[in-house]
Amino acid sequence: REARFPLLKPLETFDLSAVPELDIRMFRELTTCEYIREHRNVIFLGPSGTGKTHMATALGLEACKNNYRTRFVTCYGLVNELIEAREDRDLQRLLKRYSRYDLLILDELGYIPFSKEGAELLFQVLAERHEKGSVMITSNLGFADWTQVFGDQAMTAALLDRLTHKARIINCNWESYRLRQSLADRRSN
Ligand code: ADP
Ligand code: MG
Repeated sequence: REARFPLLKPLETFDLSAVPELDIRMFRELTTCEYIREHRNVIFLGPSGTGKTHMATALGLEACKNNYRTRFVTCYGLVNELIEAREDRDLQRLLKRYSRYDLLILDELGYIPFSKEGAELLFQVLAERHEKGSVMITSNLGFADWTQVFGDQAMTAALLDRLTHKARIINCNWESYRLRQSLADRRSN
């Protein structure tokens, strides 16, 4: 309802047969929302076009169906929101709001690096949620490259340590879905 998904992509629209490399057992388990009850995080890693946002949206919609307070936001959007709130002296209220969601979906980590202030604010949001609520992140970068985004190596190491603890990590190491579709179309013509 107020999760603010960019697109409505429910589970039924995700074609599992198109991604035989996906760990279907883990994905099915995620659709039960058990990870939210257990305050576990979920991390989708892989190149652009592999369906990370689609899967995160579909799982977010499942969370909403199960009455979990869910929020979808891009990393960039969240960082901007935090910086603006600080300027308006409204940061504490925003941090509180972000700590209340059962599931916080952060899309697109890695496309745009953060300023030092932005990285620190995002770090604060994630630290406050640690083991209290689930975070779902999608990223085009492998963990080794996350320092590039956060800037600070020690901060990134601490963040990864917490985020990945007991997390479900899904490596989307397949080609882009659209590329696959167009290749399949070409073969059938
Ligand atoms: P990413 O976030 O990894 O860059 P997206 O989730 O945006 O990729 O997927 C790119 C496009 O391909 C979207 O329109 C998405 O709905 C579609 N898509 C990707 N994987 C699948 C799939 N397995 N079944 C149906 N559509 C898919
Ligand atoms: Mg995406």
